[in-house]
Amino acid sequence: PVILGIESSCDDTSAAVYSDGVMLSNIIANQAIHEAYGGVVPELASRVHQQNIVPAVQQALINAKIRKNDIDAVAFTRGPGLLGSLLVGVSFAKAFALAKNLPLIEVNHMQAHILAHFIDEPKPTFPFLCLTVSGGHTQIVLVKDYFDMEIVGQTQDDAAGEAMDKTSKILGLPYPGGPLIDKHARLGNPDAYPFPEPQIPGYNFSFSGLKTSILYFIQNNVAKNPNFIAENLNDICASVEKRIVTILLNKLTKAAHAYGIKDVALAGGVSANTGLRLGLQQLGAKHGWNTFIPAIQYCTDNAGMIAVAGYYKYLQGDFTDQHVAPLARMPF
Ligand code: ATP
Ligand code: FE
Repeated sequence: PVILGIESSCDDTSAAVYSDGVMLSNIIANQAIHEAYGGVVPELASRVHQQNIVPAVQQALINAKIRKNDIDAVAFTRGPGLLGSLLVGVSFAKAFALAKNLPLIEVNHMQAHILAHFIDEPKPTFPFLCLTVSGGHTQIVLVKDYFDMEIVGQTQDDAAGEAMDKTSKILGLPYPGGPLIDKHARLGNPDAYPFPEPQIPGYNFSFSGLKTSILYFIQNNVAKNPNFIAENLNDICASVEKRIVTILLNKLTKAAHAYGIKDVALAGGVSANTGLRLGLQQLGAKHGWNTFIPAIQYCTDNAGMIAVAGYYKYLQGDFTDQHVAPLARMPF
């Protein structure tokens, strides 16, 4: 089957076409408008989705070299995400399916981040553990089957991506900060400033204490030297990234040992981070794991992951109807 995927849960408008093992196109329209505000403004995001959705789908069809009539089903993100943003994608998918008399497939955005591992080779084998780290979530997920997933640990407050973005805001860098922290971290000393590792039980995480300690550290140093950030930006970014990565990988290692799992994966926007990708590969070599890291274009929000998740639901005959509405919160 040929699946059209639609993603609009946050600030990226994306459309993709997936057909039996091949991603024919994956168009992502970023919204630059939020940079000036230092974060995503929900009301603006939904308006820009409204402008971008039709051109994104048209471009996805052109790049895939298919016509509307070739599509067999429409998969869309039902949640979780910003309600106004989700509404645009959900409404588009419903209208398209109605006009073309096609089945509709609802997809959970967090499951789709994980199912991005089924786009390219090598694919993990069930059961595997996936550390899903994104702008809104930080989860260790035991993936038993395509749609049978159990969260074994998660953040009690901020997400790892939020910790990246808030740190960059403290440093005066533009939104989204994660990629910039990554860039500066490559040039700095990760041991320059040791930030504390929170002691949280089980496989859960907490990043709000780290955020506060970073804020106080910067404020104290800037009080002594107004040029502290500019003079030490690379070392600060390297040190922050190192701490976030070690917090994540220490918990993942603990869970992998406890569950006796050898297939270990990363997913979500923060899995684009160079330090995290290298860190998982090193851990894999040390512990004899098979490690899986998506291509960068399938780490941050994209419709390719929605289309592939839709493909596996299509094979199971798992369809939804025209009464479907988006969900800001959507458990597995
Ligand atoms: P969620 O998936 O939880 O709903 P989201 O969809 O907004 O949230 P994603 O697009 O999956 O999030 O990920 C965005 C996050 O990834 C942002 O916090 C961004 O800073 C972070 N990020 C992207 N690239 C990198 C990188 N190279 N290094 C660190 N963080 C990064
Ligand atoms: Fe996401």
